Amino acid sequence: MEFREQVALAPYTTFKIGGPARWFAEALTEAEIVEAVEFARARGLPLFVLGGGSNLLVSDEGFTGLVLHITLKGIEQREDVFDVAAGEDWDGFVRHLVDEEYGGVECLAGIPGTVGGTPIQNVGAYGQEVSDTVTRVRVLDLTTLKFEEFSNADCGFAYRRSIFNTMQRGKYIVTHVSFRLRQNGEPRIAYADLKRYFQGSVTPSLKEVSAAVREIRRGKGMYIVPGDPDCRSAGSFFRNPVISANHFARIAKAEGVEVPHYPTGEGAVKVPAAWLLERAGFHKGYTMGAAGISSRHTLALVNRGGATAADILALRDRIVAQVDERFGIRLEPEPVWLG
Ligand SMILES: Cc1cc2nc3c(=O)[nH]c(=O)nc-3n(C[C@H](O)[C@H](O)[C@H](O)COP(=O)(O)OP(=O)(O)OC[C@H]3O[C@@H](n4cnc5c(N)ncnc54)[C@H](O)[C@@H]3O)c2cc1C
Repeated sequence: MEFREQVALAPYTTFKIGGPARWFAEALTEAEIVEAVEFARARGLPLFVLGGGSNLLVSDEGFTGLVLHITLKGIEQREDVFDVAAGEDWDGFVRHLVDEEYGGVECLAGIPGTVGGTPIQNVGAYGQEVSDTVTRVRVLDLTTLKFEEFSNADCGFAYRRSIFNTMQRGKYIVTHVSFRLRQNGEPRIAYADLKRYFQGSVTPSLKEVSAAVREIRRGKGMYIVPGDPDCRSAGSFFRNPVISANHFARIAKAEGVEVPHYPTGEGAVKVPAAWLLERAGFHKGYTMGAAGISSRHTLALVNRGGATAADILALRDRIVAQVDERFGIRLEPEPVWLG
């Protein structure tokens, strides 16, 4: 395998931002992953695992260690279980499943990135999360250099969380993910946008639902179309915060309007971050130099052209401060920071 030096990282990210990697390599096999880890160890280099770069903001200075791009390919099927290599394109896999009439991930169509990236933050959209269908995650343990297999329960999945982005962050490299799907199952139409789309029509097929999801996403700039400036983002930049019911009641009283929210566990509610941003003055199309908010989606911070990571961070800080001041909520960014 080839280890290259000073490789620009911006083209490997959907933000199109970031300086170079001191070292960069592509792993096509599990053996190459081990080789790269040994290369980094021998030189005392920090290691960063790169998938599709769609949930990533790279610093302007770049990264002084080794960036390992996961490009393992292959899909194997055993009855209704699909074992997929981490470097497969996620949306390509969804298309494959829907073509074969398998349901369970049709609402996750159009999400960029790799299959290996999906368990990290338990990717979710339109009423589905990968944790609904993941049965097994194969990983390399970076402390022991042994391969291990995790069950769904081992992964500790929750909203935009798993052990891979919390307690065990940076400890494992995902090499394969297995999913159990349902053949000829009914599509899931749980979200308002989708219900509206199919209002009055007979039960749509899995293919129709995934196509609708891509179309709805495209309308919001959340489906990557080359040349669309609203797509130079990392998707939603902030997680929807979960706050206590008491805190929520105080906000509702102070705002004097109906505040959208979803119950989530006892005494807790989830509030849409987009609503908080809008109320705090950050509307679609908001600009701050070369950084801004997508003209079609309040939660997507975008590179308007020539933005640096510092520009995006300055906008992030302004939003976090103003939302905190108004609501007493500290928003958490969703994308991973590399620098
Ligand atoms: C336009 C747009 C829309 C989006 N919509 C959604 C959405 O609807 N729902 C949603 O949940 N997300 C969404 N995202 C975010 C993003 O697409 C997902 O989080 C995706 O799963 C990230 O995968 P990736 O391969 O690009 O990971 P990367 O961005 O390359 O990496 C993200 C993190 O995962 C780690 N990682 C990646 N691959 C591996 C691996 N094989 N082993 C170990 N660690 C790994 C990286 O080290 C890093 O910490 C969107 C992003 C964009 C740009």
